[in-house]
Amino acid sequence: LASLEVQPFPTVLEFPTGKTGGGHVMVAAGPCGVESREQTLKAAHYVKAHGAHMLRGGAFKPRTSPYAFQGLGLEGLKILAEAKRETGLPIVTEVLSPEQVELVAEYADVLQIGARNAQNFPLLQAVGEAGKPVLLKRGMSMTLEEFLMSAEYILSRGNMRVILVERGIRTFEKATRFTLDVAAVPVLKSWTHLPVWIDPSHPAGKRDWVIPLALAGLAAGADGLIVETHPEPEKALSDAAQQLHEHEFAELMDKVRRLVAAL
Ligand code: PEP
Ligand code: MN
Repeated sequence: LASLEVQPFPTVLEFPTGKTGGGHVMVAAGPCGVESREQTLKAAHYVKAHGAHMLRGGAFKPRTSPYAFQGLGLEGLKILAEAKRETGLPIVTEVLSPEQVELVAEYADVLQIGARNAQNFPLLQAVGEAGKPVLLKRGMSMTLEEFLMSAEYILSRGNMRVILVERGIRTFEKATRFTLDVAAVPVLKSWTHLPVWIDPSHPAGKRDWVIPLALAGLAAGADGLIVETHPEPEKALSDAAQQLHEHEFAELMDKVRRLVAAL
């Protein structure tokens, strides 16, 4: 169902704030995790002011360690809803388990499936039935064929609104947190009609490298970005080193606008 042979034209997803696919580029931005009302509302207002089309923020966090900050849960979803009311930005937030899908879908405009759940087949089927667009991250050790098969789990349940996100894979290189596979963009776009986005934050692991990776992804033909930014990144409870300061996010958006206009 994802194949260009089945649908020979790009899937375009429309939101009140913009479109993605078929030459339209969207930017989702916000903190890695929803940590407080103040932090999330601050981020929501400035990402909107700098031109983002969607607010990201995890209420349920898939942490490598069970002792690390796990997110605010339902309280976090309510904070995201308030940020949406104040800014008009649609919300993308992660869902970790099939049991959570109904709850998260009440608050989210787009359901995020994280890299660590990219082959959680019951979860993929559940979001396939939730009636909301899905942002599907590539697993850190998945081939592109496997990635598309994960998308098929969602599509085959009747949900055709899927965004594929390259967010970096595991290689021998340790300088970056993950290796951004920029080639995934043209390869996927030669196979599928679905929008393909880049997450430059998680592969970079360090904020200095986020802007170049984001621009590389867009230059390669990506239909969107999902980027982490935090009002006080040094104090972030997760992914502190890679979240952009507001002024860096503003610089990114300025460069994105100029690049997209030039493409
Ligand atoms: C995230 O977006 O904060 C996240 C956990 O991403 P990933 O699943 O790509 O690691
Ligand atoms: Mn993160």
